[in-house]
Amino acid sequence: MNYERSEGNLMQVKGKAKEQGDALMVNEKDAQAVSLGYTSDVAAQVCSNCSNYSGMAGGASGPCGIFSGKHVSAKGWCSAHAG
Ligand code: SF4
Repeated sequence: MNYERSEGNLMQVKGKAKEQGDALMVNEKDAQAVSLGYTSDVAAQVCSNCSNYSGMAGGASGPCGIFSGKHVSAKGWCSAHAG
């Protein structure tokens, strides 16, 4: 596995999965993520079809307006999902 330091933290880099800069991924165990029920992989309602998501179409991850400064999984979900 490849690792890279970004913003003072160590992050895993999976080939081309790293997209749109060096933003950290939201950890499901972060307090804000827990409070919103964020999960990084679910079906049906997903981050990629949420109006708070601004990642590139077809990308594995991207920015979310709720989690400022971090990326969420395109296949993720949280209770703030907006159609
Ligand atoms: Fe995903 Fe929730 Fe952000 Fe929508 S608000 S993109 S469901 S983390």
